[in-house]
Amino acid sequence: MKNSDVYVCRFCHRQFVPDPRNKHHQKCCPRPVCRRALAAERQRKRRRKLKENQEEYQAYLEKDRERKRKSRAGAQKGRASTPRPPPFTGFDHLNFILTGMVAHFADTQNRDDISCYMNRMLETGRNFVRGS
Ligand SMILES: [Zn+2]
Repeated sequence: MKNSDVYVCRFCHRQFVPDPRNKHHQKCCPRPVCRRALAAERQRKRRRKLKENQEEYQAYLEKDRERKRKSRAGAQKGRASTPRPPPFTGFDHLNFILTGMVAHFADTQNRDDISCYMNRMLETGRNFVRGS
């Protein structure tokens, strides 16, 4: 047996001959206490990795929330800077709007009814402005 065929267990520090099929990665002797120690070590590593991934994941979520918040703020800013439609100045449109309002409040689409209401309101408005 070559000396290189003898390993030293990392847990109990005893020499052991590794299983020929596993010798390239066998890390401890076959004693149950050492095998348990190895299993515990692997579990610690797995948990640490999981925790790191969890922290990474939480950091990712936080970053993503921040990105979405900024995106929303940007969209609102974008809306605010969008040019607003010019203020209404068309008096022709005002006639249409007033006619539409009369039709709406009188709850009718009938031209004669609307004309009748319009005339009545014209009269009321005139009287109000003239103070009579
Ligand atoms: Zn051992």
